[in-house]
Amino acid sequence: MRPRPFVNWARNQRSWPRHRHAPASEVEIVDLVRAVRARGEHLRVVGAGHSWSAAPVTDQHLVTLDRHARVVRVDREARRVTVAAGMRLRDLTVALDREGLALENLGSISEQSVAGAIATGTHGTGLGHGVLATQVVALRLVTGTGEVRVLGEGDGDLLDAARVSLGALGVVSEVTLRVRDTFDLEERAWSLPFDDACRALPELAREHAQLKAWWLPHTGRVQLFAYAPTQAARHGTGPVRRALDAAVNRVAFTGVLGLGRAAPGLIPSLSRLVGKTYFHARRRVDRSDRLLNVAMPPRHLEMEYGLPLAATTEAWRATKRLIERERLRVNFVQEARFVAADACHLSPAYQRESCQLGAYMAPSADLERYFRGFEAIALGLDGRPHWGKIFHARAAELAPRYPRWDRFQALRRELDPDGVFVSEFLREVLG
Ligand SMILES: Cc1cc2nc3c(=O)[nH]c(=O)nc-3n(C[C@H](O)[C@H](O)[C@H](O)COP(=O)(O)OP(=O)(O)OC[C@H]3O[C@@H](n4cnc5c(N)ncnc54)[C@H](O)[C@@H]3O)c2cc1C
Repeated sequence: MRPRPFVNWARNQRSWPRHRHAPASEVEIVDLVRAVRARGEHLRVVGAGHSWSAAPVTDQHLVTLDRHARVVRVDREARRVTVAAGMRLRDLTVALDREGLALENLGSISEQSVAGAIATGTHGTGLGHGVLATQVVALRLVTGTGEVRVLGEGDGDLLDAARVSLGALGVVSEVTLRVRDTFDLEERAWSLPFDDACRALPELAREHAQLKAWWLPHTGRVQLFAYAPTQAARHGTGPVRRALDAAVNRVAFTGVLGLGRAAPGLIPSLSRLVGKTYFHARRRVDRSDRLLNVAMPPRHLEMEYGLPLAATTEAWRATKRLIERERLRVNFVQEARFVAADACHLSPAYQRESCQLGAYMAPSADLERYFRGFEAIALGLDGRPHWGKIFHARAAELAPRYPRWDRFQALRRELDPDGVFVSEFLREVLG
């Protein structure tokens, strides 16, 4: 019988793992790693399958930690939470809220597993915040020999490597995160003409604790969103508003994308219509996670590069020129977010404040040319790819962009001497 396929959320990755496993404890993970190693085979862990890249893909042993997914410990005094690594961010947020606690920052969605999100350098926005992995203060790692390594803040170098590791150093079985008291945010949205926004972005990113920008190609304006902690009364959200946002994404945007697929010539006009309808000034106040997360978008593909902050303006202008020169019909927003410098060896923001610039597109004829062109621009500006999104750069081109690359490789050899966690993807991108 043919094995059941693994398919990721975006449906652009598919594989047929020969074996599937769902360990429910660290002991079971250790036994599994040892058994796979003894057979000279390979193993990959999949979190929630929300990466566009082939990071979790394997045709050998695919492991899910869905049965190893719960809150292990909450330390209210120290503001720490420890979770079994398969736990979804969404469930963690709910559990923390019950304790009056919250994650410091979040990306656009919370469907990911905790270990999966940190492994690829998932981030939210705000120059005062690092990638989510920088909230990790300790973790337990089952190495390629089946040894359990307990890494805390005293293990600086090793912890920094294991925080953003693409699953190349071992199976993360438990994660301890720094958290804070629950807090509300005010979201302020406004728009600027494209050129003004482009020029002002690095400065605006410094002015606002958390800022993101969306540009819908073929329109002349950029929509900006700034988030700031507040004590003001909640307004502008609520369950009805959230249900409406979800419905708009599910029905209206999906319909618009379908129309554009059937008649690509309509894409620029459709984009202008969406821009006019959807991008307007507003203020909302709500619990932090509800504002930082957005309604689940229609299925699409994403490429994203981390760029030095100073390259933001040039990168966005060059992308606009690319779209105009090649007459690309781009049917989804471009997004700019900002991330603090960190010390994680493979983080896109390693030792530099970054603009994470994302090129998004629902499947369409111009997709390949758009992503290739965007990637060339990003690589030319010293970009580092988001490991969980689409990119074509390979190890030889990537290595010089990460000052701690060699150190990471040495740790990889030490922690996984027999290549238990190796996959085709890891061979290509890490060498
Ligand atoms: C709609 C959507 C919105 C998104 N929004 C954002 C965003 O706002 N910001 C952002 O930065 N990214 C975003 N992403 C990307 C996403 O956060 C990352 O790709 C993330 O890694 C996916 O987490 P996952 O749990 O699905 O992991 P998977 O995709 O299943 O796996 C990712 C990697 O983690 C490894 N891994 C998983 N569990 C373990 C473990 N226990 N031990 C060791 N390795 C492990 C896997 O082997 C793989 O290498 C988004 C993705 C989608 C689909």
